[in-house]
Amino acid sequence: MKIFFIYSLEDYVSVEKPLSSFSAISFGISFIATACKQAGYDVSIFVATSDRASISNIIESIKNEKPQVLAFTAVTSQYYLIKSIASIAKKIDSSVTNILGGHHATLNPEITIQETVFDAICIGEGDQAIVSFIDQLSRGESPEHINNLWIRNKISGIIDKSPQSAFIQDLDALPLIDRSLWEKWIDNKDRMHTVLIGRGCPNKCSYCSNHALCKTGTGKYVRFRSPENIIKELTLIVENYPKVSSIHLEVETLSVNLAYVFRLCSSLKSFNASLAHPLYFGTNMSITKNIVDNEDLLAAFKSANFDFFNVGLESGSIMIRNEVLKRPKYTNDDLVSFSSLVKKYDIQLNIFALIGIPGERLSDYNETVECIRQCNPWHVFLSIFYPYPGTDLYNSAKKQGLFTGTIVNPEMERTRATLDLPGFSKRQINHEYLIFAYRVYRGQKSLPVIFAIILRTYFSMHPWLNKFYRLVVRHPVLRLLQKKVASMSK
Ligand code: SF4
Repeated sequence: MKIFFIYSLEDYVSVEKPLSSFSAISFGISFIATACKQAGYDVSIFVATSDRASISNIIESIKNEKPQVLAFTAVTSQYYLIKSIASIAKKIDSSVTNILGGHHATLNPEITIQETVFDAICIGEGDQAIVSFIDQLSRGESPEHINNLWIRNKISGIIDKSPQSAFIQDLDALPLIDRSLWEKWIDNKDRMHTVLIGRGCPNKCSYCSNHALCKTGTGKYVRFRSPENIIKELTLIVENYPKVSSIHLEVETLSVNLAYVFRLCSSLKSFNASLAHPLYFGTNMSITKNIVDNEDLLAAFKSANFDFFNVGLESGSIMIRNEVLKRPKYTNDDLVSFSSLVKKYDIQLNIFALIGIPGERLSDYNETVECIRQCNPWHVFLSIFYPYPGTDLYNSAKKQGLFTGTIVNPEMERTRATLDLPGFSKRQINHEYLIFAYRVYRGQKSLPVIFAIILRTYFSMHPWLNKFYRLVVRHPVLRLLQKKVASMSK
């Protein structure tokens, strides 16, 4: 049985090597493709982009290699491209079986299953479900009664909607992902790798999928792999990619169980002691009272060789944060304190921020700028609010009449204003998004560095300029220049 797993992305490096590094791979596909490969199936991963040449390459592969199953994943912004590939595949070979998983199908199952180009959709975790589905197909059966799957019978058209399974409680039971499946799509295999260390988030932010995803199964939703299991994966990375020096330990937030964090840091420290070139680590944290002034915790991170943290402020306005975004409770002062502590340990702090949020006024935005200025982080991941169907904030923004129909070109998702707000117009949001680096870094970074960030932001707001940027920055001279700019901003 030949299976193609198809992933897509809007912002890509090139058609041939769309993913900048292993930090851009999809973990959902990685676990399932690895499990299918280990079960003896012939598995390939494809990465699609909106470029015509990319679609043609995939179509040619479908024509020539004749896979029996195409397994797709998509968030809403990727869905339209994925749907069009699924549709073309059906025209080439009507017997091919298309199955879609990922956030879009999970959060919008009733609408998605209406699309007859998909024979089945996966709601929530697909690690066991997809393998069972392929097993049934490979035995020549018509797949049915598989938890987490809704399957359309190819003859009767009747949809078999199975119930949801419990979330996989023991993440160590999952396979160590087979990175070789992604290699042909990676621009630089030696740059940062990402290792998934947990699933689920204890918070229920209204703009994020987690509040909906936690209802797609039963049992504990927030889970972590054991430090021993993580070390096994790191060992494989070091063996197979010896030039890699930096690892992002990916999890929604690590600030859940500090006893676990201390054990993890201790294991990473011992592992690093066994290496000629210790690895650097980074992770995602949310601001909680027990980490803000926790010197012991920072010392543990430092001894394990952590060199960056990503934390979410999102909005500096308490009203927007608590009443609209439903963020966990923290104050701006908490983030500023944590930022000082992180700097004391010479660790980089990156902050996530969001603008153009329903209910946001210019004065709320100014509070975001002020808080980030006080933190003076290494980098800000700034996004413009994009309403994802299936989330609470999408529903409430729609109810308030803040948008109708198609929201924004997916190529500009989170880089162009989607809402024209009474206290913060679309034009103002786009303008502030562009000059944000000037607002927060004025007097803190040099003007050429601020100008370079603004220029990059401008490119990201225009798809064709972004493609041009991606093309030229691959030139070796420009790569050298980029490194210089990065070192200047330190
Ligand atoms: S903390 Fe982050 S991952 Fe968790 S629910 Fe909020 S936005 Fe989502």
